[in-house]
Amino acid sequence: MNDKYFLIMAKTTQSMLEGEGVLKKAGIKTDLVPAPPEHGTVCAIAIKVSAADLAKAEGLLQEKAIALAGIYEEEPLKLIGLLEKLGKLPVAGDFIKIIQKIEAGSALEKEEIIRLLATRQPREAEILFTVADRVQQKIVGDRVDIRGAIEFSNFCRRRCTYCGINADVAGLQRYRMTEAEIMAVVAELHALGLKTVILQSGEDSFWTREKLITLLQRIKKETGMRITLSVGEWRRADYAAFKAAGANNFLLKIETTNRELFAQIHPDTDYDQRQESLTWLKELGYLTGSGNILGLPGQTLADIAADILYFKKAGINMIGIGPFIPAQGTTLAENPYGDIQLTLKTVALTRIVCQKVYIPATTALASLAAEAQTKALQAGANSIMLINTPPQYRQQYNIYNQKNYVDLAAAIQAIRAAGRLLPDYLSPEIVARFSKDQAHNSLRETGGGESGAHRA
Ligand code: SAM
Repeated sequence: MNDKYFLIMAKTTQSMLEGEGVLKKAGIKTDLVPAPPEHGTVCAIAIKVSAADLAKAEGLLQEKAIALAGIYEEEPLKLIGLLEKLGKLPVAGDFIKIIQKIEAGSALEKEEIIRLLATRQPREAEILFTVADRVQQKIVGDRVDIRGAIEFSNFCRRRCTYCGINADVAGLQRYRMTEAEIMAVVAELHALGLKTVILQSGEDSFWTREKLITLLQRIKKETGMRITLSVGEWRRADYAAFKAAGANNFLLKIETTNRELFAQIHPDTDYDQRQESLTWLKELGYLTGSGNILGLPGQTLADIAADILYFKKAGINMIGIGPFIPAQGTTLAENPYGDIQLTLKTVALTRIVCQKVYIPATTALASLAAEAQTKALQAGANSIMLINTPPQYRQQYNIYNQKNYVDLAAAIQAIRAAGRLLPDYLSPEIVARFSKDQAHNSLRETGGGESGAHRA
């Protein structure tokens, strides 16, 4: 009974967040997870509680008059008949055994994750992607969430050796957007119907806690949008203040869980502090984002497997997996690019291991190849981050070379190419306005496409 979990759905996101706060305050261990596909829109969340806490949680929510839409038992995932459906497989026996384990709903060991990451067999990789896709369909559904990002300052006090806006990069024109400029972009995103805005920057001392709070409060008041912050490391009290001012989600990538490698690429950031910040964010009730970079110098498959297991253990809700891309003016400028196929395999394994999470098809992946973003959506990823930084600043937010500016049209195209569904908060007018390839779209919408009329 005690290993069982239940998902509590409140009637609105606001009451869901309120409810989670009430339960946390009462000492109940909770987690915010994506709602099951049959019980919510793509960006909907649910409160996960253990069976042991369910009765108490229900009582408390009732006491606070938080209206519930339903309570569902979390079923262990089983992909019945998957191997049979995949046909007669000319693949190794140990590979099949691991797939059978996934099919039966059992957790993978580190060595098994490494075995799957290591495969160079195209057939095995395709099976891995198919399995991840099935897990995604069952757990979070077919729809892709689209979020708009504003990179509002490229000033940074840190010296991360891979990053093209680090404090040591000479010759980079630095910029910071004004509150009015940021609000103008937020208003555009809101008018498009998007539900979440991501505010990202270097660690810029100009943007103090007070200034950020004013900005967060304005966004909340004027648009009601969900806000994701991606502004690096702060004190616990600051994270709490941002939460109180309206921030919902926070992205802080661990980058790598290999301590030595972390220290090597972060001369002025402490690994334990990074982990502690992530713990604080969870404790404060943020939907917490993290992730890693693939292709860091000396990084091994065992490191990547450890990253995936860390995401699971730490209860990370949004996991960004991006290939390393060299950045001009940095210590690692001459290092090789991260591998696309390895990135896709890591996306797939992260979906299989972490299950009820958001996984973006990252900008870094789209920067290496547009079709890689589409492929990621077919191998476990279920969200896309648009770059909405105004054109006059974009080139300067040069965290790596050849950064791709994924806009709404590109995102719609990638989602369609992947045979996935567009988010239901985009109106048909907006979709039509941003559709690049009308002929292709109408073919799909009349059911002539591969994936039928119900698809995007
Ligand atoms: N300052 C905030 C922070 O560190 O969390 C947010 C901005 S930081 C530039 C956002 C992310 O960019 C990092 O977490 C890192 O994973 C990614 N990034 C930076 N340089 C990169 C590179 N050369 N290749 C791939 N990803 C990179």
